[in-house]
Amino acid sequence: MKTPWVLSILLFCYSINMISQKKSINSTQIIKSNDMSKKLPEEWKNTLNDEEYRILIEKGTEYPHTGKYNMHFENGVYNCNGCKIPIFNSDQKFKSDCGWPSFDECIEGAIKYVDCANCNGHLGHIFDDGPTETGKRYCVNSVSIDFKKKS
Ligand SMILES: [Zn+2]
Repeated sequence: MKTPWVLSILLFCYSINMISQKKSINSTQIIKSNDMSKKLPEEWKNTLNDEEYRILIEKGTEYPHTGKYNMHFENGVYNCNGCKIPIFNSDQKFKSDCGWPSFDECIEGAIKYVDCANCNGHLGHIFDDGPTETGKRYCVNSVSIDFKKKS
C-alpha cells in the first residue's frame, strides 16, 4: 500500500519542477560573453569604481537600505555589474524589508552560489527563508547589479 504515496510524492515534485521550469523558459537566456573570470585585479580596477571593486571582487557588502535597487521595481532585467550578463528578471524581484534588493530566483545558470557564474563577481548571499514558492531569497548588493529597463 506504499506505492500510491510514493507516486503522489513523485507527482508533487514533478509538478513543482514543471512550475519552476515554466518560469525559467520565460527568463532571458544568458548570452555568454568572453571568459571574464580570467580578468586580473588590475584589469577590474580599470572598469569598476572603488565601491564596485570592494563588493564584486573583494566580496564586500554595501550598507543596508542604501543601494539604488533596494526599493526599485521597474520592468526589466538586472545584469551583473561586473561582466553585464543578465542575472535576474524584474519578475524575480520581491519587496523585502532586509535592506538589500531581494530575488526569489535567478536566471537559470546565471549564478553559482552567490557569485556571477560568468565573471565570479560577488553578488550577495542566498537564504532559504524566501516568502514565495521558491523558498529562496537572493539578497544582493545594488552595486553588483545594473538594471536595464524593458522597452
Ligand atoms: Zn559577472
